[in-house]
Amino acid sequence: MDFSCQRCGKCCREIGIPWSELDVHLVAAHLNMHLDDFLKLYGFQDNVYSGEIEHMDPGVTPCPFLKYDREKAVCKIYPVRPWVCRGYPGPGMVCRGGQKKIEAGEQREEVYS
Ligand code: SF4
Repeated sequence: MDFSCQRCGKCCREIGIPWSELDVHLVAAHLNMHLDDFLKLYGFQDNVYSGEIEHMDPGVTPCPFLKYDREKAVCKIYPVRPWVCRGYPGPGMVCRGGQKKIEAGEQREEVYS
């Protein structure tokens, strides 16, 4: 059975998103913002332990780029969303909205734009 996102937005509301340094650069450029301004506005800091830039508090949700259109979740930065968002839910993970476990090899429908 294929997985189809219902756009409930639970993943964007409930899971802290780990951002890679590349994610941060891509989204800042997409928003036409200077990197320092972007980091300050969205509360990022350098994580000296992982070597990556991550959200200041990965537990803070919802994601600031989540919005709703007629009760359906929409990602405001969909074309450049972080890599974890692109792959969610991955094999072996459970979709928080549908509580459906994704099996290896299942196709995911892209409906978040
Ligand atoms: S970046 Fe977009 S897809 Fe990722 S958590 Fe935020 S709203 Fe959801």
